[in-house]
Amino acid sequence: MTIDNCKFEGQKVIVRVDFNVPLNENGVITDDTRIRGALPTLKKVLADGGALIIMSHMGKPKGKVNPKLSLGQIKDAVAKALGVAEVKFAPDCAKAADAAAALQPGEVLLLENLRFYPEEEGKPVGVEKGTPEYDEAKKAMKESQKKFAKTLASYADCYIMDAFGTAHRKHASTAVIADYFDADHKMLGYLMEKEVQAVDNVLSNIKRPFVAIMGGSKVSSKIGIIENLLGKVDKLILCGGMTYTFSKAHGGEIGQSIVELDKLDVALEVEKKAKENGVELVLADDCVCCTDYDFKNFAVKEGAKIEVYPANAIPAEFEGLDAGPESSKKFAAAIDGAKTILWNGPAGCFECDAFTDGSKAIGEAIAKATAEGAFSLIGGGDSVACCTKFGLTDKVSYISTGGGALLEAIEGKVLPGVAAIKG
Ligand code: AMP
Repeated sequence: MTIDNCKFEGQKVIVRVDFNVPLNENGVITDDTRIRGALPTLKKVLADGGALIIMSHMGKPKGKVNPKLSLGQIKDAVAKALGVAEVKFAPDCAKAADAAAALQPGEVLLLENLRFYPEEEGKPVGVEKGTPEYDEAKKAMKESQKKFAKTLASYADCYIMDAFGTAHRKHASTAVIADYFDADHKMLGYLMEKEVQAVDNVLSNIKRPFVAIMGGSKVSSKIGIIENLLGKVDKLILCGGMTYTFSKAHGGEIGQSIVELDKLDVALEVEKKAKENGVELVLADDCVCCTDYDFKNFAVKEGAKIEVYPANAIPAEFEGLDAGPESSKKFAAAIDGAKTILWNGPAGCFECDAFTDGSKAIGEAIAKATAEGAFSLIGGGDSVACCTKFGLTDKVSYISTGGGALLEAIEGKVLPGVAAIKG
């Protein structure tokens, strides 16, 4: 069943969305991209004459009620985005049967943060992993999770999964719930369909050259996808904090730069595999370095020096925080002429204006290649933030709402949120 084939008139439809939006200290939404992303699906249900039950998580309350992470804070913003007078709110998502039963066509009910219940994620609470009690607790939790999912399912006639950002998790609301609907009454939403299609555009029918750019802070968090990409891409640009683990692996001087000393062999292995597969590995030759950077406030501390050094000759008191001018040119040249592009992770600490140039050069080169016919897929919160910061969101082919989910999908893993619907 697809959402387009379905007429929701007179139906109650429970939709899992990703409303995990950032809030400021006053509980005001600072970026509503995720709400906007879910609107096509939500509006389709209402336009058909259905009633909506919306569910989401927000933040990491770890199975406990936390008023700072209450979805009640965003209900008026959701009403405004949907163009309805009111969004009703169910303060306990496991006790919303009456509120759901009373819903009339065209009405909307927002459930409280699913993760206030440990059953949502299905992780045992209060027992340590590796202890004998843990396995028992895990079994018991799986049963509670099923019950919780069944309760959520009981509110509605149909289930739509539209939360790509959490589709790589087998949670009560993203996957387990689907067991309580037959094939004609569960489906992916428009956002999920678009995301799955974008991944498909990259993975099947790859137009070459295929260039992937992986940045961010660490090799360890990206190694799965890097290894996988080595079997697919023509060029792989590795930038950001990873630069220094590669440099160190060859005996380079990296000063105070971020490094994973236990991953030096992994870096060498990546280089070896790239060679074997005929993949051109592109690493930074020079870096913009600083003597005192405040990571918490994204600011260069007063009196700190900023200088450019070779990536393998950084003085002891400096730390590499961005790709240098030569590297930026090299990255842009590697992207030029690409026909398929995947970008995940910035080339530097782009949050601070002193260290944006590497990421900007990459973003602009992607925009140019896209204008010349490439399909470009950008994923992961930080590369998306880069595109926004540099005004490039309309100049790339597709911006994914998923970080981890996107990487797992590109790795070729079947996402539980997709499998639950498609089998
Ligand atoms: P990730 O979550 O692994 O994709 O990493 C994103 C973060 O990596 C961003 O907050 C960047 O500021 C940070 N980052 C990028 N380059 C560096 C670097 N050279 N040193 C430390 N952090 C970096």
